[in-house]
Amino acid sequence: MKLLQDKVAIVTGAGSGIGRSVAIAYAREGARVVVSDMDEESADQTVRLIASEGGEGFFVKCDVSSPEDNEALVWATIGKYGALHIACNNAGIGGAMAPTGMYPVEAWDKVIAVNLSGAFYGARYQIPAMLNSGGGVIINMASILGSVGFANSPAYVAAKHGLIGLTKNIALEYSSKGIRANAVGPAFIKTPLLKDLDEETMNWLVGRHPIGRMGEPKEVAELVLWLSSPKASFITGSYYPVDGGYLAQ
Ligand code: NAP
Repeated sequence: MKLLQDKVAIVTGAGSGIGRSVAIAYAREGARVVVSDMDEESADQTVRLIASEGGEGFFVKCDVSSPEDNEALVWATIGKYGALHIACNNAGIGGAMAPTGMYPVEAWDKVIAVNLSGAFYGARYQIPAMLNSGGGVIINMASILGSVGFANSPAYVAAKHGLIGLTKNIALEYSSKGIRANAVGPAFIKTPLLKDLDEETMNWLVGRHPIGRMGEPKEVAELVLWLSSPKASFITGSYYPVDGGYLAQ
């Protein structure tokens, strides 16, 4: 039997990078996957990749910074598959880079809206649906920058720290009711999120990882898949780095 047989999963930001890898991993293990993103074209490509492996997925557009979109995403999931068991709140943006004393206020608001409020809005509507579905699992995509700082990224660092706190709260409130919640903390992973960084910065970042390279999206997806599965049945309220040794320093 597959790890997620008969489960229904939502993945936000599933049109690219880590989210796409998670959606494909979920579908490979038997889940019916709601592939959600703001960008229809890239999400459709994820749906096609899932279908090419014989998996089941469908696209629902959702801007995670909108509470209404998050509510509609859950209703669309229930409408299509009749239940919700797993949600990977993955959508996120890097945001502007500047020291706190010069950080653009609009950039702060945007990063917090997508990376932190987005996951809250998701959980706000996912949790009632999971309770009605007999329980579930929430995975919030944090970052190594949810437990350490990174100069010139105050909004991202604050949002990811907040996301780990939110994850703990969900676990305290709902673990006894059948919903596990955990956060995952990737180090730097080769995805379009890093597309604006120059070669020198990329090389410097590689050097920050004791393993000597950045991660691949599928290396994050493996951890997310395992935490989402019954194999992780006693694991809730925690934060799991997947970081090539970054946080060991
Ligand atoms: P990515 O390749 O840029 O993928 C993120 C996806 O989310 C994109 O499809 C993006 O769409 C979508 N998205 C952006 N804003 C959204 C919104 N408001 N509502 C819905 N979807 C939205 O980035 P990634 O590297 O896979 O990042 C995924 C998650 O991992 C993020 O939470 C990120 O913070 C986290 N993470 C990444 C790294 C890394 O080094 N890559 C490290 C640690 C944590 P568009 O392409 O249209 O913007």
